[in-house]
Parts: sequence; C-alpha cells; structure tokens
Amino acid sequence: FPAPEPAETLTVMGAGLVGSLLSLFLARRGHTVEVYERRADMRLSGAVEGRSINLALSDRGWRALEGVGIGDEIRQVAIPMYRRVMHDAQGNLSYQPYGHDNQAIYSVSRAGLNRTLLSLAEANPRVRLQFNQQCLGIDTRARHMELRDTTTGEERQVNFRRLFGTDGAFSAVRSAMQKTERYNYSQSYLDYGYKELNIEPGPNGEWLLEKNALHIWPRGQYMMIALPNLDGSFNCTLFFPYEGEHSFAALQTPEQVQAFFEEVFPDVVPLMPELTDEYFRNPTGSLVTIRCFPWAFHDDVLLLGDASHAIVPFYGQGMNAGFEDCTVLDQLLEQFGPDWHRIFDEFQRRRKPDADAIADLAVYNFEEMRDRVGDPRFLLQKKIESKIAAQFPGHWTPLYSQVTFSHTPYAEAWQSGQAQEQIMRRLMPHIQTEADYDRPEVQALVAQEMADRP
Ligand code: FAD
Repeated sequence: FPAPEPAETLTVMGAGLVGSLLSLFLARRGHTVEVYERRADMRLSGAVEGRSINLALSDRGWRALEGVGIGDEIRQVAIPMYRRVMHDAQGNLSYQPYGHDNQAIYSVSRAGLNRTLLSLAEANPRVRLQFNQQCLGIDTRARHMELRDTTTGEERQVNFRRLFGTDGAFSAVRSAMQKTERYNYSQSYLDYGYKELNIEPGPNGEWLLEKNALHIWPRGQYMMIALPNLDGSFNCTLFFPYEGEHSFAALQTPEQVQAFFEEVFPDVVPLMPELTDEYFRNPTGSLVTIRCFPWAFHDDVLLLGDASHAIVPFYGQGMNAGFEDCTVLDQLLEQFGPDWHRIFDEFQRRRKPDADAIADLAVYNFEEMRDRVGDPRFLLQKKIESKIAAQFPGHWTPLYSQVTFSHTPYAEAWQSGQAQEQIMRRLMPHIQTEADYDRPEVQALVAQEMADRP
C-alpha cells in the first residue's frame, strides 16, 4: 500500500477543462488546492452568452469524469453520435458507424462542462478558485509567480510550493519553463484556420439534420463538420485554407460567402439563415500543434493538458487527452505518493510518447476526414476492416476505435493502426465489393496476413 500522502497546498494555474478537473483529483487526495484563472467566472456570465460551442467527448474523457464521480451528471446533457454522416456536393448522404453496437462519441457543451467542473470544485472545501487572475510569469527557481488582477490591474507576487500549469496552448507557465536550460519546444501551424457557424433548430426545437450523428461535408482541400446541441441547433466548424482559390482570403464579401456555400454546401445553406453575418462576425481560429519537453521542473512545476501538448482538433481528442493526463497523474499519486519527484518524472516519461502519437494522429485524421471519407474505396476499406474485426475478435481493432473507445496508450494504438493499414494496402487491390471478402482467395490472403501478425 502506498504511504499516506502528507497533505500539501498545491497551486493550479488555469481553470479551463483540464485545470478544473485536475483540482478535483488533487483535492480528493487530501490536498488543499489554490486555483487561479485569468478569465472572469464563466458561471456568472452564462445568461448573456451566445450559442454554446461543443466538443466530442469519448471513452478516455469519460473515465476521467467518472474518476471524480460526475460521469452520470454529464451523460444527461451529452448527445451520443453513433456515426458519421457524409454530405456530398449534391446533398447525397453516406454513412459510417463509429464503432459497433452502441458505441458513440458524445457532443457536450464546452462551457456547460467547464461550468459543471467549476461548481464541483467550488463545492469542495479543499479547493479555492480565484478568477480574474492572470499569470504574467513565474520564477521556477525561487518558486513564485507574478499575478495581475484583470479587474483592478494590480500586480502581486505569490509563492508556490508545487505548481500545475494547465493554462492552455499559450501557457504562461510553459513560457517560463522555456527559459530553463536545454528546453525543447516547437509549434507548428496548419495552413488552415477554422470558423464556427450555426445551423438553426426547426420551428419546434427539432433537429433539422440527423441528431445522433457527426455530420461532415468533405470537399478535398477543405471541409465542414457539425455537432448537435440540446436545443435542436448544430455547431458547424468550417476548416478552410487561409490562402488560395478556395480560402478565407478569397471570400471577402457576404455575396461571395453566400454564393460559395450555395455551390459547395447546398443542402445546408437553407438551414443557416445567419450564415454571412456569422461568417464575418466570428473570428477565424488558427490550428496549432505544440510539443515541448520536459513537462516537469524538478518536483516543483508540472504541465498538463494543452499547456504541454496542444493538438489540432481532427481526432476530437485534445480535451480527452488532457483528461487522461489527470487519470494517469492520479494513478501515479496512488502508486508513488508522496514521492513527487518520482510522480512528475514517471508522468512525463509515460505521457510524452502518447502525446506525440495523438498529435500525429490528429493531423492524419484531418487528411482522412477532408479527402478520404468521401471516397467510396475508403468506405469499402472501412467495411472490410469491420469484417476482419468481427472474424478475428480481439486480434483486430480499427485504429479509430483504439483511439476513441479504448484506453490503449495512444502510441500503441498508432503503431498497431499503422501495421493494420499496411495489411489493408495489400488486401484492397483484391477486393472490389463487400462480397469479395468471402471469396476463398481473399479469405486465404486474410488468413495469411493474420497468421503473420506478431
Ligand atoms: P484550455 O481549455 O485552453 O484552458 C486553459 C485555461 O487557462 C483557460 O481557462 C484560460 O483562460 C486559462 N489561462 C490561460 N492563460 C492564463 C494565464 N496566463 N493566467 C491564468 N489563466 C490562464 N478536444 C476534444 O477532446 N474533443 C473535441 O471535439 C475538440 N474539439 C475542438 C475544436 C476546436 C476548434 C479546438 C480549437 C479544440 C478542440 N478540442 C477538442 C481541444 C480542446 O479544446 C482542448 O484540448 C482543451 O480545451 C484543453 O483544455 P486545457 O484546460 O488544457 O486548456
């Protein structure tokens, strides 16, 4: 049994999705947790906020939420999405299930989830939340940080013993770590940005597209997706090049936007009455992958979530990976508490390869969603993979399922997914229809491939 941990006062910088969840995990282990957040308390501004933006939550995220006992509460406001629905340029639909039986990813409101986590943290007597507190910098050696009160502009210095940096992709805590010796850091932007748009609910609050699905309009060099909300609306995200023939740069007027959408997304334009207003009102977001190492500074500072591994959103795993960080850290607290040095070290050693793998997978899935999900050969390949999985249970799990519906470390999932893809490349030239799978010569090839697998 692990030695009982002496309770400490721990500091968490950033009360976004990961920071607020982390504070709950730390408090459950008996620690006092001081949480600082740059923004105002989002629960107080709820009434005036516009439409919620949603995220896809999957098994890794659920496990972490269940770890602090709120899985059931969130499930009540989450919409299961059982399949991808692809919309072609003529408005024809094709379908691809995400998994088998009742496997689904879940659309949840980002703000709703964050608010629930904050309320839960606030209800815990060991957690103290302080809003409007911006971290300007930290002194890693002296263990103090500079905070600015964003309402008064007042600056002060606060000491910490152990600091968890969960202040997102543009982390101030990480910036300070970058100034330490031999620090590795890279950021890489896609040539694509994103724009949030909305599909209105029907007159009676009904969903005007299939509710329990993630919708995709794949168009080769760009795409749009839509996830359902509880009020009958959908949040759409257009992923679009910054420059080029079809790009943000090329659409400068409401007429150009309207004409372009009518041409390439004809089935959805009637459901977007505010399209051009939203297009010009909503900001264009950038898409960045951030890698860095180490994530720990002695046993004093540790980065988690986007602060240590920001990824592009195409696998729907950024938050899930950050939540999984919390699960893994909690397991290490259980195993090695109170040896913080070992905990921080094991954490970064274990998680770094997985963070790198999901970063690569996210870019890979971008190409798949943008180019390949509209291709009948690709959809046939996915059907054949499901047949192999059914024929060899436990010996073949589609890559998407390993990432989304399992707790297999991302790095292992990525490796096995690449090996499976090689097999599919050898098999698919022999397969023209779903029925071909049962032909004796194809079955012989499949048997051979499976026998050769390590
Ligand atoms: P954040 O959510 O960025 O939170 C950081 C917090 O720190 C914020 O509250 C911020 O105000 C605060 N902060 C920042 N700087 C300071 C400072 N200097 N001082 C004090 N506080 C500070 N992930 C999924 O799993 N599924 C999805 O479907 C999905 N879709 C996405 C779609 C898009 C378009 C994007 C951009 C991302 C998506 N993600 C998705 C990724 C997900 O949003 C992030 O991985 C997740 O928000 C990371 O949580 P975090 O708490 O680490 O960082």
